[in-house]
Amino acid sequence: MGAVSRQTEEIMRVLGLFREFGTDDDRWEAMRRPEACDFVYGNPHDVAPQAYVDALVRAAQPTGKDHYAYTMDLPAAVRSVGDDLRRRFPVAFRNEDIHLTNGNFVGLAVALRTLVDPGDEVIFVSPPWFFYETLIVAAGATPVRVLADRDNDFDLDLGAIEAAISPRTRAIIVNSPHNPSGRIYTPEQLTALSAILEEGSARSGHRIFLLSDEAYNRIVFTPNTFTTPVAYYPHSFLLYTYAKTLLSPGSRLGYIAVGPEIDGADELRAALQIGQITLGWAYPVSILQHAIPDLNAMAPDIPVLQRRRDTLVSTLHEQGYEVVEPQGTFYVLVRSPIEDDRRFAEVLRAHDVFVLPGAMFEMPGWFRLSVTANDDMVERSLPGFAKAIAEVSA
Ligand code: PMP
Repeated sequence: MGAVSRQTEEIMRVLGLFREFGTDDDRWEAMRRPEACDFVYGNPHDVAPQAYVDALVRAAQPTGKDHYAYTMDLPAAVRSVGDDLRRRFPVAFRNEDIHLTNGNFVGLAVALRTLVDPGDEVIFVSPPWFFYETLIVAAGATPVRVLADRDNDFDLDLGAIEAAISPRTRAIIVNSPHNPSGRIYTPEQLTALSAILEEGSARSGHRIFLLSDEAYNRIVFTPNTFTTPVAYYPHSFLLYTYAKTLLSPGSRLGYIAVGPEIDGADELRAALQIGQITLGWAYPVSILQHAIPDLNAMAPDIPVLQRRRDTLVSTLHEQGYEVVEPQGTFYVLVRSPIEDDRRFAEVLRAHDVFVLPGAMFEMPGWFRLSVTANDDMVERSLPGFAKAIAEVSA
């Protein structure tokens, strides 16, 4: 027997390609050079706004002896989240069903561990966020992949979801706005999904839960609007992270808000708390909890992100690329002009343009750009994109 458990070996296998890409030190070093145009991840490329820093500094000032005590869900923070959710969505979330987390990594890990036993299946949509499969395996369940409807702007393929539901299905992860396509699911799609999940639950004799990964629910481009799946299927968990809205993924802050009419609400409330503790006290650090009321008042600068999206979508389209215009999120999906997206990423890299190859998110033949790249990077990258497509088309 080796040093590493079989389960960990399996987790490492599932994450294989992404691990190799994400830990390539040469690439990281090249991306940090001042001339690099870095579109790879949703990382900030501008210094954090002073208002954000001021909120954290204020929250660091002790208000009493308990300011830095062990803190689970700080009541003032939870009240602020509850008010914000009830104002934005037509769902009567209860404050006691809000659990603060270290972002959606933890939100998903806790929710999955709370729900699944070995052998249970969890459905996710492909192309996915890279870590769904890993987190499902780490929770001891079996991932079941359903392809998005690529012929219809990456909508949910409802027929495929229905067909994927088995007696072992325990949950489905739905991500709207969707990383990487930027698709926002419509009320009609969510109504139909809800009916499918109700029927599937009735057929299998147990409740199928919906994990609504809403990392980007405030990154929505005009004139689109976002509706939460929780408003359509009551047996849902809303998972939120402040990382995208506040462009601060290193700060690790988010929450789970359980739908008020979910089956098993009391049991789930206690179980999620135990999940937070046994995952290793997975609560946000005190400073962030104290800052939540101020952070809830901050809004993302959508016009800036939208301008970058528009520049990239229109310029790349003029240069001959096939581009998907996102309705939300940070991401722009582009078809690689050659089949081998990893090779094309290297062609772009030679022009100091760094992108995420589609092979990393189950979309070989494509690549993804993040508009968290700053304005200067966007401008400087455009000739590089033009040269790269000319080179491979020659
Ligand atoms: N879900 C999706 C769809 C994401 O894109 C991300 C971050 N890229 C996460 C979850 C994880 O969020 P966090 O790092 O804030 O936990």
